[in-house]
Amino acid sequence: MIRVRFVTLGLATAAMTAFTAAPPKPPVSATNHPLEFIDTSFENASPIWYEFAPDGTVLIHLLYDHERSSPNRAAGHIHFQLQAKPQSKLTLEFLNLDNVWNGVSSSIARELKAVVISENGREWKPVPLESLPENRVRLQIEMPGPRLYVARVEPYRLSDLDRLLASLRSNPLVQITSIGKTVQGRELEIIRVGNPQPPFRVFLRARAHAWEPGGNWVVEGLVHRLLQDDADAKKFLTRFCVYILPMANKDGVALGRTRFNFQGKDLNRDWNKPADPQLAPENYALEQWLEGMAGKGQSPHLALELHNDGNGQLHISRPPVPELPRYLDRMATLEELLRKHTWFTEGSTKGSFRNSGTLGEGWLERYHIDAAVHEFNCNWIAGLKDYPSAKHWQTYGEKLATVFYEYFGLVRP
Ligand SMILES: [Zn+2]
Repeated sequence: MIRVRFVTLGLATAAMTAFTAAPPKPPVSATNHPLEFIDTSFENASPIWYEFAPDGTVLIHLLYDHERSSPNRAAGHIHFQLQAKPQSKLTLEFLNLDNVWNGVSSSIARELKAVVISENGREWKPVPLESLPENRVRLQIEMPGPRLYVARVEPYRLSDLDRLLASLRSNPLVQITSIGKTVQGRELEIIRVGNPQPPFRVFLRARAHAWEPGGNWVVEGLVHRLLQDDADAKKFLTRFCVYILPMANKDGVALGRTRFNFQGKDLNRDWNKPADPQLAPENYALEQWLEGMAGKGQSPHLALELHNDGNGQLHISRPPVPELPRYLDRMATLEELLRKHTWFTEGSTKGSFRNSGTLGEGWLERYHIDAAVHEFNCNWIAGLKDYPSAKHWQTYGEKLATVFYEYFGLVRP
């Protein structure tokens, strides 16, 4: 039996070698390797496959998710648990970072500068990554115990959102409304914080792209600030209330995908036309909600679409709409207030920048709402000279309350 297997394998190897004309790779034995297993069975874990290089490096192959009717693909969500001998030293290499974005090849290898690690999945600390040729990055790590989580940035899971929602439900200043369901049938909630009839309304959406948890931490910080029982919170809520769709791509977050929804749609695209209820039910539900608000004369005065990338800018798009000068003027006010009250230093897109199909541009074009995409740099916070963390993003959200208060003091509807 063993002999037969050996012969079969030998023939297969010979055939493959002849076919590809590549030198055969030396056999790899993982028997004595300190890594026992990589667990990806839990909530928000990234789908991967892995193998051992001859020198013992663990090669982690991220899996791409794909956009429908498009060459676009994305990988870059990292969240798994290493199970290995305590105190062993592991070398990991991340592969498949060659994304296609807006039809153009665009490796994220150069912008991947750090990951975070945690023994319990709650307290995380950053570890720098090393850039290698051919769009690979390397992580060298010593196991503090038998289990260690590795993630791209501090994860924010569905269970984290459920905990937030549970803590808010009985608050008289909060209303949680279900607006529809995701492709896989998960409930989509909008959280309103504040009185229903204030002079101004702000809308925020987070997590259209599943790997990007920064926006979730930001909106948590904002919600908690607005619900602090103090004079400033009361003052804020006499001027504005916030409506938050905290997790647009819940299916992707639950199953550890990188970017698209489960019908291969990018939820931050196609806002220049009505949403498809079958392919993008997450956007269709939001669009129905928005049109309902408009019908009641309660459209948001400002909308922010929160994301993570390697730059952290405010994306000011310039579609040819008559109200463009008014919009640009207000976005300049917003940027100034962000610089004044938060750690924001990254600035905004200039010149003829267009961000076609994004919620920012689409809501301005179709609904005349002052809307923008706000990216948060996932690698470094220049204004703090520190790695990003849940805590820093929450602080940002807390300060947004002041930003919105002053913004609506300066602009007129
Ligand atoms: Zn994004």
